[in-house]
Amino acid sequence: KGSLAVVGTGIRTVGQLNGDTIARLKTASKVFYLVADIVGEQVIKQIQPAAESLGRFYRLGGARKEAYDAMVERVLSAVRDGHRTCFAAYGHPGVFAFPTHEAVRRARAEGYDAIMLPAISAEDCLFADLGVDPANPGCVSHEATRFVLYRKPIDPTSALVLWQVGSFGDPTYQPQRNRGRWIHLLVERLLEHYSPSHEVTLYEAAIFINCPARIERIPLGALVDAELSPATTLYVPPALRDELDDETCGALSIRSEHLK
Ligand code: SAM
Repeated sequence: KGSLAVVGTGIRTVGQLNGDTIARLKTASKVFYLVADIVGEQVIKQIQPAAESLGRFYRLGGARKEAYDAMVERVLSAVRDGHRTCFAAYGHPGVFAFPTHEAVRRARAEGYDAIMLPAISAEDCLFADLGVDPANPGCVSHEATRFVLYRKPIDPTSALVLWQVGSFGDPTYQPQRNRGRWIHLLVERLLEHYSPSHEVTLYEAAIFINCPARIERIPLGALVDAELSPATTLYVPPALRDELDDETCGALSIRSEHLK
């Protein structure tokens, strides 16, 4: 009977590909992959020369959702054919990734065993590279377009991580850089809570060994003119300090000097 394992290659595949993922790639009878760089592709091909790219389902200017549906259908067809199927995506396969979750949901709904294994996401790299701990003062992650479309609440005492700023407002597949046609709408939303001089970071984790990450600090107001790529994540640090709730502190007998 077919089964499905969804795995992630990490962001810098050479180094971040973990043991679980390698084992699943090795033991699968059919491997599919969706990765963002040539080294990641080569690493997968070394382990499984017959691995099949799902990138071919993208159509320039076509709806990303349509491509994702076709990818899921292709993966499911292998499961139905009885393959021990492995679907590898870059980063963490369950973080800001639709087809991976959908493939697991569909396989389970059709009665097949399906599992997703964790891996290193772009945000994991961001925490390390920018020296940010989501524990203090708290951190909220949003997909940039949804963040504006659904007017998600903004908490300026927490850090804010905005994904997919490079494809802001655009549901189609466009792999090139600098398509920030609607980015002013994101900036306008952020300016409701942050000043134009508030420093934000354009972040692109290194995908190759010995290549630096892009860590570009700019005032929020300059974001409209910034160069954005499909790999850009925007980090917005908090603008306000946390306010301690003295009453709860007293009730718990916690002294502020004991808090980090
Ligand atoms: N599953 C991936 C992960 O675990 O990081 C995320 C895939 S999501 C479809 C694509 C978004 O991830 C990009 O628009 C960007 O926000 C972020 N991303 C991908 N590669 C990145 C990189 N090298 N550095 C920073 N952010 C990255």
